[in-house]
Amino acid sequence: MDLLSPNAPTPLQEISDKLIEEAGIKLFIKRDDLIHPTVSGNKWRKLKYSILKAKSENETTILTFGGAYSNHLYATAAAGNALGFQTIGIVRGEELAEKESATLKFCREKDMQLHFVSRQEYKLRHSEEYVRQLAEQFDFPFIIPEGGTSDLALKGVAEMVEEVRGQLEFDPDYFAVAAGTGGTAAGIRAANADVLAFSALKGGGFLENEIDELLTNYENKGKLKLVTDYHFGGYAKWNAELMYFIESFKGNYGIQLEQVYTGKMFFGLFELIRNGYFAKGSVIVAVHTGGLQGLLIRS
Ligand SMILES: *Cc1c(COP(=O)(O)O)cnc(C)c1O
Repeated sequence: MDLLSPNAPTPLQEISDKLIEEAGIKLFIKRDDLIHPTVSGNKWRKLKYSILKAKSENETTILTFGGAYSNHLYATAAAGNALGFQTIGIVRGEELAEKESATLKFCREKDMQLHFVSRQEYKLRHSEEYVRQLAEQFDFPFIIPEGGTSDLALKGVAEMVEEVRGQLEFDPDYFAVAAGTGGTAAGIRAANADVLAFSALKGGGFLENEIDELLTNYENKGKLKLVTDYHFGGYAKWNAELMYFIESFKGNYGIQLEQVYTGKMFFGLFELIRNGYFAKGSVIVAVHTGGLQGLLIRS
C-alpha cells in the first residue's frame, strides 16, 4: 500500500442549497474522507510524520492508545500492517476483551496486539511514569499518543490547511472540524487559520486548554471557537435525530457522514447557519475528517 502517497490534495467541494444561499455564505467541504481507504481523514494527516519518524529511526513496533470505536487504532493497525511495523494497542475497558467491536476485530486482523486495561488505568495514558512503564513492558516501542495527537500531528494537519489555501486562493473565515482530542483543531490553528471546533464529547470545555497547550510553541496561531452543544449525550452516543440528519445529508449532497464525529459537526454547523451565526459573505470550509469505518448504518 502506498500509504505515504495518498489521494491528495483531497477535493474541496462546494455545496449549496436554500439554507446556505439564504444565509449569504459559502460552504466548502474538504474531502479528507477520500485521502486513503483505510487510514482515513485526519488520522492519515496526524499519523504521517509520526510514521515517517518511526521509519527513519528504524523502529519495528508502534504502540498507541484508543477505545472500542477508535478510528486512530484502526488507522494505526492498517498503516502498521502495510508498512511492516508491529503494532500494539492499549485499549480502554477490560470488558471489551470479551465482546470486541468491529473496529477492534479489524485491528486484530491487521495483527495489532490488543492489550486491554481498566478505565482507571487508561486515565494514566498521558502520565510520563505510566508511559515509561509501558515502554519497558513492551520492549521500548515507538509510542504515539491517543488519537495520534502530538507535535508531529499538528504539522500533518497544517498541510491540509495549505492544500485548502491553494485550492481557494484565499483564506476561509472558518475551518469547521469535529474534535475528540483537539489535535486536528490545534493543527489548523498551527497553520494560522481560525477554527470552529465541535466537541464530540460531553463536557468538551476542557478542550480549550488542551488545544492551547498543544500550541505553546507556536507564535502565530489562528483563533479557536469551541462549540460544545452538539455531543448528543457524549462520545459515541447518538439518537434518531442525528441518524436522520446523516441520512438526509447523504440524500441532499451525496456525502456520507458517520455518527461519532462528522455527523455531529455538520448537524451543529447547520444549526448555527440556520440561527444566523455567520455574517453574510462568510466562507466556511468544513473538514470531512473521515471515520466512515465506524458508520453504524450503511445506506
Ligand atoms: C479522531 C477523529 C476526530 C477527532 O480528531 P481530534 O484530532 O482527536 O480532535 C474527528 N473526526 C473523525 C472522523 C475522527 O476519526
